[in-house]
Amino acid sequence: MSNETTAARPIADGVHWLGGCLPANAQGQEVHYHVSAYLVVGAEAAILVDTGDPAHLPTVIGQLDAVLGNRSLDYVFPTHPEIPHAGNLPWLLDRYPSALVVGDVRDYSLHFPEHEGRFRPMVAGECIDLGGREFRFLPAFIRDLENTLWGYDGGAGMLFVSDGFSYIHDVPAPDGDDEPVHLPGQCRLLSGEMPAPPTVEQAAYGTGRALYWTKFVDVSDAFRRIDETLDAFPTRLIGPAHGNVIDDVDGMLRTSLAAHRKVYEGKPLYSE
Ligand SMILES: [Zn+2]
Ligand SMILES: [Zn+2]
Repeated sequence: MSNETTAARPIADGVHWLGGCLPANAQGQEVHYHVSAYLVVGAEAAILVDTGDPAHLPTVIGQLDAVLGNRSLDYVFPTHPEIPHAGNLPWLLDRYPSALVVGDVRDYSLHFPEHEGRFRPMVAGECIDLGGREFRFLPAFIRDLENTLWGYDGGAGMLFVSDGFSYIHDVPAPDGDDEPVHLPGQCRLLSGEMPAPPTVEQAAYGTGRALYWTKFVDVSDAFRRIDETLDAFPTRLIGPAHGNVIDDVDGMLRTSLAAHRKVYEGKPLYSE
């Protein structure tokens, strides 16, 4: 893994971009696939959104230590129970004995009976007070599992979207792989810092491959609800687990909606 992915990046007051990248080979070129986590630190409490991949456990631990210092981690919020999102839970629970797991935690006590009592079910609409800022659980309007949840930090105006809004840039696809990728050196760039904003085709690529069902479902209703959410909860940043952080929210939302429609309709859709 390249060095540039090993440091956390502060991206807003109290919000840090953690995790790492999994390298892949794309027709002879090294490309990267994000497995990101986000740490939101309030005056009273800190919450980790997704756990990072077990392959990055030492990286994530180092990033948490660097940001938290002597503070504890209070909450871990796996957006859904898949390895890149929840895989580091057992080590995090051991390392932070007072941390609680929050979100849709319906099955975790079966996997981790030794941590029974540390799982706090949260439903969309519920909030956690971090001290001076509130973390809100939201429905996942684009999701790959039934119990995926999104989150929103009111302090920074940042929306955490799990597997939603992953996209690729102008790089070849990894051999035999369909995941959204970026080039070494672009690991911690905001979308507005990338060489060029993603085109509809690039967004469609990541969307159609990562979330297979979008070929078959009209996402207009989902995007209307996302629009309503953005109206209700002003959003300056969007943090996907598998893509660069989006700082051009309106532009990216339009691109992604066009991408979903293109995948659904299965025909070219011309951008303006
Ligand atoms: Zn994922
Ligand atoms: Zn990378």
